[in-house]
Amino acid sequence: MNNTSHEVSHQNPLEGRYVQIEKLEWASFPEGLCEGPIKWKLLNVSPETGAWTAIFDCPAGSSFNRHVHIGPGEYFLTKGYMEVRGGDDDGGSTAIAPGYGYEPCNAQHDKTYFKEDSEFYMTFLGPLNFIDQDGNTLALVTWQGAQTAWEIK
Ligand code: ZN
Repeated sequence: MNNTSHEVSHQNPLEGRYVQIEKLEWASFPEGLCEGPIKWKLLNVSPETGAWTAIFDCPAGSSFNRHVHIGPGEYFLTKGYMEVRGGDDDGGSTAIAPGYGYEPCNAQHDKTYFKEDSEFYMTFLGPLNFIDQDGNTLALVTWQGAQTAWEIK
């Protein structure tokens, strides 16, 4: 096989990344996507997969607005208490740190609520579609959108 750089350029390994989390400043998560002063750090975007990874600081009483996960996501609740899809009492999940969760493609979260000061890490394999009560898109947060929001913070 002829390994000219032209032919194999699409196979070049991606650059690895490393983030020392405490060296990044927390930024306010965009208004309109949450209630309460949620802060975040964007740790990675992966254009090749459409994935993006962030860590969120969610004070007691804060919540994320209604959204649909266009792709699946995995999270690790490192601190606190998070109610997903209404929590255990309403057919959803109540995460208590340290806790891991997987949310499938098209999972709809009407309100992701933090009863205590909480922190979680999540990788989103695709955009988050923030919607109104009728399912109309209010904001589609792709990896590019996440990166733009992070860069203009
Ligand atoms: Zn969600």
